[in-house]
Amino acid sequence: MRSGIDVVVIGTGIAGASVAYSLARRGMRVTTADAHRPGQATAASAGILEPWSGAEEDEGLYRLQADATRYYPTLLGRLSEDGIDDVGYARNGALVVSESSRDLDAVESRVSGRAIGEPSVGSVSRLTGPQARELFPALARELAAVHISGAARVDGGRLRRSLLQAAARHSATSLEGNAEVVITRSRAAAVLVAGRKLESDAVVIAAGAWTNQVLAPLGLRVPVEPQRGQIIQLRLEDVDSSAWPSVLPLTPHYIVSFDDSRIAVGVTREAGSGFDPRITAGGQRLVLDAALAVAPGLADATYLETRVGLRPLASDQRPHVGPVPGVDGLVVCTGFGPVGLTLGPWMGELVADMVEGARAPEHAGLEPRFEDLGEAGASAANRSDAATTNHVTAIQSSLKPPARR
Ligand SMILES: Cc1cc2nc3c(=O)[nH]c(=O)nc-3n(C[C@H](O)[C@H](O)[C@H](O)COP(=O)(O)OP(=O)(O)OC[C@H]3O[C@@H](n4cnc5c(N)ncnc54)[C@H](O)[C@@H]3O)c2cc1C
Repeated sequence: MRSGIDVVVIGTGIAGASVAYSLARRGMRVTTADAHRPGQATAASAGILEPWSGAEEDEGLYRLQADATRYYPTLLGRLSEDGIDDVGYARNGALVVSESSRDLDAVESRVSGRAIGEPSVGSVSRLTGPQARELFPALARELAAVHISGAARVDGGRLRRSLLQAAARHSATSLEGNAEVVITRSRAAAVLVAGRKLESDAVVIAAGAWTNQVLAPLGLRVPVEPQRGQIIQLRLEDVDSSAWPSVLPLTPHYIVSFDDSRIAVGVTREAGSGFDPRITAGGQRLVLDAALAVAPGLADATYLETRVGLRPLASDQRPHVGPVPGVDGLVVCTGFGPVGLTLGPWMGELVADMVEGARAPEHAGLEPRFEDLGEAGASAANRSDAATTNHVTAIQSSLKPPARR
């Protein structure tokens, strides 16, 4: 184990918080920095952990999500060892709902196939409308379901805070403010945060949708854009919905139940939104119409609030996780799009493996795919490289692209 390495993690959404926890648990000296940009995706996330029912064509991306989902019980055990027992995680199951028995046939067959050799899926069963409504009473009468018992939900905001708290118990420290990377002789030698210079052996950029703003002064860019998501929180008065399953219609929408009678209904997927975390009239209508069509029994629920998050959406849907070629000690961890709560904790472990110099499990195509910025980018990179400092140590060649563990 490589302890005593100074690592600065930029961003403390689920990506940065997971990286910070994994590194701190392994004995590295971790400092996190967050600028508290409005629209943090993690704070808005729904929290569904169910990778098996989607018609994911990219087998590698599906496997990544399945591996990440399987890691959750291990993570919860580790947090428990660190004195944190409740992050709003529960394996409540999920109902994939539809009026079409043919569509449900396809879902049942897909999930049953994926369940072979994958115990996390739990049992897969077909439910009639009345059977489905026993589990989720607000559901529309015409909907039947495929029930997946192993599906889980987690409170993203609570998990993030817990990871940071647990990291602090392993001596991680935190700073508030905008972070900038200082490259010195082709290595990430320091980070500037709110007027302070933090010397570093490694820097992890986990700044979500803002990652390119951190990369820009280095003349680098990955194809990741903000995608706005609006999600509405409701409360069903005097109803204990804590054990209700998530409801997944075969549309971009969903319903997730939490403790304290809270039910989240989502969601918008607004590509091209830019860094604009506003609640819009059209977004509200879309989300509520979709939710009430699937679960008319929610019509009398109390409106609590709308949360807005900017997902870091990669153009090819694949995360960008790995070292920056040509810059020692610099790692990027972003591009989780709509599945960051699922992927984040497991990605934290992969990044910690990279920083430690261990071999990481093979997940082809995760390496950051940098865009060619032409001459403007090259000259910016050279300017960063012109800075000097005496701080040249440690992990140098230990940051390798992912390979089999
Ligand atoms: C409405 C909604 C519902 C979702 N539901 C699900 C779900 O059910 N299941 C699932 O798996 N995923 C879900 N997701 C996706 C998931 O939330 C995201 O993929 C994930 O939260 C991204 O995490 P992140 O840490 O990369 O980014 P963020 O959470 O956005 O965090 C980035 C952080 O970086 C900080 N930062 C930026 N620039 C700087 C800088 N220069 N210096 C310092 N700090 C900086 C920001 O302040 C921010 O705190 C959902 C997303 C949304 C929006």
